[in-house]
Amino acid sequence: MLGLFIAERRSEYDGPKRVRQRRDLDRMAETLAVPNGRKDVPDTARASRRCPGVPARPPAPARPATIAPVIPMLRKLALPPALVAIALAAVPADAGALSPNVDGMRVGVYDTRTRFVVDLDRPATFSVFTLSDPYRVVVDLPEVTWSSPLKRVSGGLIARLRFGLLKPGVSRIVLDVGGPVRVLKSFLLAPAGASRHHRLVIDLVPTDRKTFMREIRARLGTARTAPPRAPPVPRPKPRGGKKLVMIDPGHGGVDPGAISRSGQYEKHVVLAHARELRRQLLAAENYRVVMTRNRDVFVRLRKRIQEARAAGADLFISLHADSTARPSVRGASVYTLSERASDREAAALAARENKSDIIAGLDLDARSDAVADILIDLSQRDTKNRSAQFAGILIHEMAKVRSMLRNTHRFAGFAVLKAPDVPAVLVELGYLSNRADERLLFDAKARRRLMSAIVRAIDRYFGSQ
Ligand SMILES: [Zn+2]
Repeated sequence: MLGLFIAERRSEYDGPKRVRQRRDLDRMAETLAVPNGRKDVPDTARASRRCPGVPARPPAPARPATIAPVIPMLRKLALPPALVAIALAAVPADAGALSPNVDGMRVGVYDTRTRFVVDLDRPATFSVFTLSDPYRVVVDLPEVTWSSPLKRVSGGLIARLRFGLLKPGVSRIVLDVGGPVRVLKSFLLAPAGASRHHRLVIDLVPTDRKTFMREIRARLGTARTAPPRAPPVPRPKPRGGKKLVMIDPGHGGVDPGAISRSGQYEKHVVLAHARELRRQLLAAENYRVVMTRNRDVFVRLRKRIQEARAAGADLFISLHADSTARPSVRGASVYTLSERASDREAAALAARENKSDIIAGLDLDARSDAVADILIDLSQRDTKNRSAQFAGILIHEMAKVRSMLRNTHRFAGFAVLKAPDVPAVLVELGYLSNRADERLLFDAKARRRLMSAIVRAIDRYFGSQ
């Protein structure tokens, strides 16, 4: 798991020192793999035993002792401090044991200071950093489980928060803060007094934009001066016979997508539909099927596109469910890619769906290359025509089993549809903000019917090629 994680960071930070860094990273991977017992939490964390609740003057952050020798090695690599912290967060707190569970989250406000507390059932390494535009504070943990239901707390400087799996091995909490803030302190407390929990405590205070941006620049350091370009992905030769359908359940992990009136998440409902669609496609034995995700994990939009191209997909179907402030609006709809949106609502929808990387707490560079790297090439006419052809067939079939929005084939600049050589559509399965649609979306029988309509459309589309 750790090896995979480091491999991914490599590709993001490859630079002139690449070869030497790679060797060092290999050594680091070996060192980090040393098992790490809970007994290693230093006494500073236990010293708080006398203080019930969260003390006003906490001790220094606790770090498992065996990680300490790695830190100078990471510094030598001239990697940004955030990367050091994130790499540490990927270390299992207790190798071979259960992953930590988040039992609760709380916010306390003391004058100008906002204290955010995460209750854990065992110690975990963590990293905290800030992001701008919009202002966010990101907390990375090793892969954790979350108690359910977990209250989405807010207050003080924290307007909203979300959490979930960022990638295998890394869970993330993203705090939306209304303005520039400074992380005054962050530390871990062992159970003490009335608290049975290990508590991760983060103190935030307001600051000005200039200071905020200076701290971000210092954190990102030089590693960001030359963001690597993604190499073009070679398109593999078709493996004869069966067409490959790529199903893309939207959102996931730390990005919940739209939220229904009763608190249900788009990320869950679209995954359920994607699995049903895959089941039906495989049962027919006419297709190969790949999914961009098959669990509750965040996947970058750009990665979804790259995977579709690398796999040599013949068709890409992104599944979503929308939400609007008007509860009477309902119906499914189908979208294809265009530089110019068909209407204002389609443009707004694309802007919402494209925000995934921001919602997940990725930084500016990550956001810009997700959207800007893959420009719409006018020579993609053939792909666009085929996408539109499939959209037409799809709407015809879906309309037989589900009410559709009026003028339902619309287009806009959806980032996830930007693979230049894979015909692609984005399906909004319905509105989570509408009671009737919500009921249908969570009904297994309705789901089967709707997905079999999509299968019929896929059959017709490939039959006409
Ligand atoms: Zn969506």
